[in-house]
Amino acid sequence: MQQIVLASRPDGAPTQDNFRLETADIPTPGEGEILVEVSHMSLDPYMRGRMDDAKSYAAPVPVGGKMEGGSVGRVLASNSPLFKEGDHVFGMFGWATHSTADARMCRKLDPDQAPVTTALGVLGMPGFTGWWGFNEYGRPKEGETLAVAAATGPVGSMVGQLAKAKGLRAVGIAGGADKCKLATEEFGFDACVDHRAHSDFKSLRAAMKEAAPDGIDVYFENVGGPVLEAAISLMNPFGRIPLCGMIAWYNAGGLGADAAQEGLTAPKLWRTILVNFLSVNGFIISNHWDRYPDFVNEVAPMLKDGRVKYKEDITDGLENAPQAFMDLLTGGNHGKAIVKVK
Ligand code: NDP
Repeated sequence: MQQIVLASRPDGAPTQDNFRLETADIPTPGEGEILVEVSHMSLDPYMRGRMDDAKSYAAPVPVGGKMEGGSVGRVLASNSPLFKEGDHVFGMFGWATHSTADARMCRKLDPDQAPVTTALGVLGMPGFTGWWGFNEYGRPKEGETLAVAAATGPVGSMVGQLAKAKGLRAVGIAGGADKCKLATEEFGFDACVDHRAHSDFKSLRAAMKEAAPDGIDVYFENVGGPVLEAAISLMNPFGRIPLCGMIAWYNAGGLGADAAQEGLTAPKLWRTILVNFLSVNGFIISNHWDRYPDFVNEVAPMLKDGRVKYKEDITDGLENAPQAFMDLLTGGNHGKAIVKVK
């Protein structure tokens, strides 16, 4: 079997040197465990945080340890009554061709319900993140305006489509004309601002203001950086900000320091939050899995009848995972980033 381990911790943006492809023996499942042959693995922005030795909501990957991540595959052997050989399964199998896992921590998949790769994106953790944050902390109301960046990714595209389904104006922010076209033509956003086409803050803010002429009521925060500053300055009174991610700063290593370099004017932001009575709620989706069945019950039918669409960006070969991951962090992915392992 092959696996990718963390060879060293990155200093800023990750490089190939931070990863190492290793060959190892296929592991034997213990009592209550299954052995899985992975077909597809997910690449997610949170993995960048695991590469740092920083205090966070989850422990870092140790140097020399297998990179973490969710994947789907087939059960090759089972020591658990929960799974039998051949079952399709999702679990945290890491960046590897094979893995053993505690069967209780894995989820059986029905390929007749939806393609198994959807368990990594639209019907998996990212889609659930968009659904949960938007409903729980966005508290959307018909006729309001929602804005979300990384609008064509699995989180942002879910948020935008749910907003449209609930009768909001949906404004996307995405990097590049192609992604903006995808956002409006495929995911149904009313407008999309290409943040990479606006190098100065004033012009970015003006473009966002034009896209959200009535102001923003729900800003679903995925990115940080200048988009965040512009969005907050356009918020309506009593607006809500589900604080989901801040990918623009993930390579900063010590987020605070880099935020200052980017010109983040924290005092102005905080004052705007105060005088406009805004609600900001940070969340980590892994604390909310109890609501996952509700998400699937609502969104799986929408996926089946085409009310919710999704896009996947599939890279071939485990050995290409590091490059695909580095691309994800800088916007090189067009849709949910997945690696085809087998
Ligand atoms: P995506 O597949 O959308 O990939 C990330 C995207 O971020 C890139 O494609 C790029 O899109 C955008 N991006 C990168 N750098 C910048 C930048 N400097 N400014 C603006 N945008 C940038 O990711 P996901 O949908 O998987 O995740 C979206 C966010 O949600 C991330 O911040 C992630 O960490 C967070 N998240 C949080 C969770 C939680 O529990 N709180 C759970 C899951 C995800 P573009 O080219 O369009 O700019």
